[in-house]
Amino acid sequence: MKYANIIVDISVEKLDKTFQYSIPENLQEEIQVGVQVDIPFGNRKLTGYVIELTEDAEFDPRRIRPIISVHEGSVAMESQLIALAGWMRKNYGSTMNQALKTVLPIRRQTKEVQKREIVLLIPKTEAQQKLALFEQKHYTAKARLLRELIQESVLDYSLVTGKLNISAAVIRGMAQQQILKVESSRQFRNPVSHLDQKGYHLTLNENQQRVVDTVCSDLDAGIHKTYLLRGVTGSGKTEVYMELIAHTVAQGRQAIVLIPEIALTYQTVMRFYNRFGDRVSIMNSKLSQGERFDQFERAKAGDIDIMIGPRSALFTPFPHLGLIIIDEEHETSYKSETAPRYHARDVAIERARMNDASVLLGSATPSVDSYYQAMQGKYQLLTLSERVEKKPLPDCEVVDLRRELRAGNRSIFSERLQELMEDRLKKRQQIMLFLNRRGISGFISCRACGYVIQCPHCDVSLSQHAGGRMVCHYCGYEQPLPKICPSCGSKYLGGFKAGTQKIEMLVQQRFPQARVMRMDFDTTRTKDAYEKILHAFANQEADILIGTQMIVKGHDFPNVTLVGVLAADMSLHVPDFHASERTFQLLTQAVGRAGRGKEPGQAVIQTYDPDHFAIQTAKEQDYDAFYKQEIAYRRMLAYPPVWQLFLIHCTGTDPQVTTAAARDLAEFLHRVISQKGKNIMLVGPADASIAKISDVYRKVIYMKAPEYATLVACKDLVERKIKNNSTFSNVSVQFDFNPTSG
Ligand code: ADP
Ligand code: ZN
Ligand code: ZN
Repeated sequence: MKYANIIVDISVEKLDKTFQYSIPENLQEEIQVGVQVDIPFGNRKLTGYVIELTEDAEFDPRRIRPIISVHEGSVAMESQLIALAGWMRKNYGSTMNQALKTVLPIRRQTKEVQKREIVLLIPKTEAQQKLALFEQKHYTAKARLLRELIQESVLDYSLVTGKLNISAAVIRGMAQQQILKVESSRQFRNPVSHLDQKGYHLTLNENQQRVVDTVCSDLDAGIHKTYLLRGVTGSGKTEVYMELIAHTVAQGRQAIVLIPEIALTYQTVMRFYNRFGDRVSIMNSKLSQGERFDQFERAKAGDIDIMIGPRSALFTPFPHLGLIIIDEEHETSYKSETAPRYHARDVAIERARMNDASVLLGSATPSVDSYYQAMQGKYQLLTLSERVEKKPLPDCEVVDLRRELRAGNRSIFSERLQELMEDRLKKRQQIMLFLNRRGISGFISCRACGYVIQCPHCDVSLSQHAGGRMVCHYCGYEQPLPKICPSCGSKYLGGFKAGTQKIEMLVQQRFPQARVMRMDFDTTRTKDAYEKILHAFANQEADILIGTQMIVKGHDFPNVTLVGVLAADMSLHVPDFHASERTFQLLTQAVGRAGRGKEPGQAVIQTYDPDHFAIQTAKEQDYDAFYKQEIAYRRMLAYPPVWQLFLIHCTGTDPQVTTAAARDLAEFLHRVISQKGKNIMLVGPADASIAKISDVYRKVIYMKAPEYATLVACKDLVERKIKNNSTFSNVSVQFDFNPTSG
């Protein structure tokens, strides 16, 4: 007998509550995950959604009632998203509940506190005239409020009556004059409606037009594919996206644009807003669940055609979704860090398949994964190999830091970088200094010869741990930190660490006349700090901007003509098989920040490893050469995308119990593998890269196989094994397919 688990109410509190029904013989074909069905409920008839199919009865099968029928009428949006959740549960491993919470626009039952806002109703020029009048007449309260409104367009009501000390009577008076209005409900509020829309004029160049024509002729013919647009930095990809969106909207369909949150700046949003006005909405992590729900309602109601946002915008319930664009598709933020650990790229492709929609992935430095798919013919490759208006790519030099040390320069700035910085400061052009730091654990290297200590069993560097130990995060291999460099015998051996703060200090010492800004985790913690720094730097309020990879995204700085990468190795020797790929991407993107304005750009990459192919190919901005070497390495070591990787994380508070459970799973899987006789590799259990976090012990099992489906089958077996198994009552098991880091 087959059973269906059904939810009857889509709200956060009720998602856990499923009811089981049996599936009558005549409905077996039709009933799938996501299908809307009519069921007997007490003595009523209700409509619910199938969220799971199973052969296990949850209680006495004789008491399980059958589904009445498949619900008549059009396929609800929810059905499709539930089906997508089912696909995610199956392919990434999570509970159905976790998957549903990820995809469904769910409203909390608890009422949100209503927030009141004051919105400027008149154009700013008119407001300025009114302001002058108020000042002249000494209407100080009115003037104060209007001045703020001219600045911000929208103000929080409580802020106005509180901090600005303006009475309700004054606000009411100005509302009667139609200067402003008070909005007491944020429902369906459009987060971009208060922006000033500028006109739109731009003609695509020949290269852009060629890409647009290719995709549009497919769209017109009803052909739906996944495209990979590789376009060098500043080649005008965003303009191409907008043209394709316009075409999609003209067909009566909608578009989703995914942009990493860090790149979702005011400048980026404005470009879309200038073109599409309030048919665009944005989503970001600052929106509350209620606001997110409202955005989704607007999408469903047809109030908007375009949704821009990070990963979660992918689940916007557009009724006729036609196009999904993923900008900066190589970004690791597209992979979810919580269950279901999905990759937005693959979910986008699945959602597009369900909707007969198309997907366009764009990047200057495509992920090796996507480029591989393009080479296999699964995605169609499109290229933009020139910058807009034939602006040259920056001229890039690599500086060998070992040679600097030998020549007696112990500073963090090479002679060449100092020389160029001085030149730019003199010319009043701007400089960006970039520290491509990733993760928390450093690597261990020799400052004299550049030698990096690696694990003898894996092709990754060892990490420095407490007590002078070095540990491999892949296999758990451990050895003490040597006193001298095994390669050249020098004593300059140690973990590589340096912060942006220290660099800021050093810059100030070396260039006391320069105005310096710093952008990193510390300086961007407060709300809007990130935007403020970008804005100030764009306004040339500083000569030098120092930052982590945060500074490479989301903003054009036409006056930047020099980019310095201080220690390119920092992202190279992290214990991760993606290290070369990430380094190539970071360097290429960083270098690409220079020379976007009138003056040509220049870049300096400082490194202890100048011959490394990731650095050499980044210097040449040669993606093909990079890819060729990288894919050979992945193939040789059977890493993704050539093989597929599957991690099983076991965590628990008791180290013995956790280890025993992980061992038990590994042994079980070994037996499965020997029975299946398939090409599967299994390593572990080993300590996770951080073996203990807040007293929770973490073990990990690594599996590799050529086919994704093989690993999904293993996951299914593990899920079944741990269900109702007392060994795992105190150990949590989580799945991660093709992790993007660590
Ligand atoms: P990418 O996303 O590839 O880095 P953008 O779309 O941001 O490139 O374009 C880079 C700059 O060139 C932007 O300032 C954009 O307005 C401008 N631009 C793009 N296409 C054209 C064009 N056809 N004509 C003139 N300027 C363009
Ligand atoms: Zn190892
Ligand atoms: Zn050495």
